[in-house]
Amino acid sequence: MFAQKKTSPDIQFIDGYVPRGLIDTKSDLRNVPITADGLSPLRFYLKRGCISKIEIIDDFENCSLGLLLPRLVEPHAHIDKAFTWKISPNFAGTYEGALQANLEEYQDRNALIVRLRAENVLKLALKNGLRAIRSHIDSFGLIGSESWDVLLKVKNEWKSLIDLQLVALVPLDYWHTKNGRDLACKVANYKGLFGGVVLPPYKTGKLREDLAKLLELANQSGCGIDLHIDETSLEPGEGLKQLVHVLDQMKIDVPITCSHLSSMALLTPKKINFFADRLAQHQVNVIALPLTNFWLLSRDCKKIPLSRPFAPIKQLQQAGVTVAIGGDNVQDPWFPGGNFDPLSLMSTSMIITQSGPWNRLGLTTFTTSASRVLGLEWDGMFRVGSSADFVLLEADNWSSAMSTPPTRKVMIQGKWIT
Ligand SMILES: [Zn+2]
Repeated sequence: MFAQKKTSPDIQFIDGYVPRGLIDTKSDLRNVPITADGLSPLRFYLKRGCISKIEIIDDFENCSLGLLLPRLVEPHAHIDKAFTWKISPNFAGTYEGALQANLEEYQDRNALIVRLRAENVLKLALKNGLRAIRSHIDSFGLIGSESWDVLLKVKNEWKSLIDLQLVALVPLDYWHTKNGRDLACKVANYKGLFGGVVLPPYKTGKLREDLAKLLELANQSGCGIDLHIDETSLEPGEGLKQLVHVLDQMKIDVPITCSHLSSMALLTPKKINFFADRLAQHQVNVIALPLTNFWLLSRDCKKIPLSRPFAPIKQLQQAGVTVAIGGDNVQDPWFPGGNFDPLSLMSTSMIITQSGPWNRLGLTTFTTSASRVLGLEWDGMFRVGSSADFVLLEADNWSSAMSTPPTRKVMIQGKWIT
């Protein structure tokens, strides 16, 4: 099934079924066959690490083709605490339990520990087919500063294989302290992002002031913002409401991302549509994090919760908001599962989002929209001239690819690396 042949020292090609939505509409492939799964049989000729020509495979019914995807994107991770469940479990599975375990474990972190965790993540992510990861980093105090120093080195060491984006995660009002301003300088020097947590109890006046100061600081520093916002079932949509209010008063030029936005789902349909439109007007991106939300929120040890806070992806997409889906926590106190496998995340998320990857909008959350949210150079569409970065799955349809995480091969700039 893994067909990849060399026809000359400089030219090679790769065959596979490709999601139709990932073929650039400008490509001259108007008559390309499309399977019921929305897949098209294509041959990509490669030259000097890029796609040099795309052809339709006419006799595809007689070929054994795998499913061919671009290398994928993880828009929201926490690599500094990945795989800490074993030393810092949270068997109650509550938000409060996770936070407490996280803060206790944080005291024992040092540069070496953080480096080892990050390297484990990157090795796994590379093998699983990721090309970019945005990770939030616990960033307060001395340990936070050491984490940044070591992760900036790791980012540089890995830059040819995986684009690692770092977000400084601190309490919102930390940014206005002396330590916060020092952190902002460091983050800005290395083109990182400013993060923060917007959670109840929401003190309207203080929250607005903190948000406005953070937005101003980010704007002055030229850094994007990615907030953990409304990751709760309490006071639905209140953080979102305050953010929109502040954005109405300011002109912000840097990209803003709302991660989680979970309690928005508990608003009335009319309010959901209203705020979705406002986010679209302000060009705010959203990263939905279904696994941790379903694991942590509205938890009741005696009952299955009947309402599940989780970003209303379809309403947001319909309003024109760019939405990506991320894995968030991996085997840490916030979530005991996960493995930096985008195919596994796609498969598990499908249950929650009721959106299959054979639909364009069901796939963009993992491909083109995720690339857009991270501001990546390549949007993940296949076209002549784009980088020959592929994930070839041992599966010839979506159901097979989603049933168990499939065996795969990863190509970077025309070279197989697995
Ligand atoms: Zn997170």
